Amino acid sequence: MKHLVAFGQAKWNYPLSRLTSFGIGGQAKAVVWVNEEVCLRKLLSYLRERNYPYYFLGQGTNVLVGDHGYPGIIIKLGPGFSRFGVLFKGRDKVYFKVGAGIKLSRLLKTSLRYGWGGLEYLVGIPGTLGGAIAGNAGAFGHSIEENIIEIKVMTKEGEIKWYHKDMLRFDYRTANLPPGALILEAHLGLVPSNKREIMAKMYLYFQKKKLSQPLNMPSAGCVFKNPKGAFAGRLIEEVGLKGYQIGNAKISEKHANFIVNLGGARASDVLTLMGLAQDRVLKEIGIFLEPEIKILQ
Ligand SMILES: Cc1cc2nc3c(=O)[nH]c(=O)nc-3n(C[C@H](O)[C@H](O)[C@H](O)COP(=O)(O)OP(=O)(O)OC[C@H]3O[C@@H](n4cnc5c(N)ncnc54)[C@H](O)[C@@H]3O)c2cc1C
Repeated sequence: MKHLVAFGQAKWNYPLSRLTSFGIGGQAKAVVWVNEEVCLRKLLSYLRERNYPYYFLGQGTNVLVGDHGYPGIIIKLGPGFSRFGVLFKGRDKVYFKVGAGIKLSRLLKTSLRYGWGGLEYLVGIPGTLGGAIAGNAGAFGHSIEENIIEIKVMTKEGEIKWYHKDMLRFDYRTANLPPGALILEAHLGLVPSNKREIMAKMYLYFQKKKLSQPLNMPSAGCVFKNPKGAFAGRLIEEVGLKGYQIGNAKISEKHANFIVNLGGARASDVLTLMGLAQDRVLKEIGIFLEPEIKILQ
């Protein structure tokens, strides 16, 4: 295990509460920040040979880590995977490549600076581009699949593969990636636009988000996927659980599909709240709520 430093910056027994927006969770055996493809390939092969479990973490904004942590290695893309470059610039379209480790907020700032529109709906969504693609993140009727041209992934065997959008099966909150594939880079398509218009759209979307979501509290975003033709938050509200609290975890008063950490909440409290919401909604309304957040334990 001490060899992990050969692949990047490594820290042992690292609290995952520090690497997730929920601020919840025990320790991982180690976290490795990798900056180069070659190191990543060697790391995957090292872990495979030793049968060590591992997990890719972006910014940890859609993950609940268990109270006992994760008995394996967390792999994070370092700054070497946040680079950005223009591939093609025409009158009505721009194609550019960008590393999967870039934060969405930085990606939006960059596209605004150049006057490229098309990503405005992502405003206020925390996380990295890789996490957004893996979960086909989106809002206001749009999702990241609209902007994807192709993505570069490293397979679990360490091979580099390019997937054109048509080869992926994007769906609601999933890109249906092959198991174990790590997204390294994406080619995105945007539209040259007026900076003021881009800013106005972002402002409008952000105001809407701020009004309806508890953005000032630690959470992992929407806990459940919206079932077809319904909103998970409304269903949870209908069964009377809005504002319900267990320990220091609470179903948000502002948006019932968010569970917020009031300070020192335990993963077990969040899981109990999730189970309660699922039971009540199934029993009283007959709809199964499928978790959107990933549970790592
Ligand atoms: C306040 C708040 C508001 C939010 N609003 C929205 C919203 O409006 N719409 C929405 O869709 N989501 C929303 N989210 C959820 C979350 O921000 C998004 O899902 C985000 O895209 C996750 O990115 P991440 O880097 O944090 O991924 P993580 O949470 O770190 O990981 C999520 C999953 O993606 C996988 N993953 C991460 N990086 C990679 C990679 N490079 N290659 C392969 N797999 C990878 C992980 O293994 C994990 O399974 C919100 C979250 C919060 C806290």
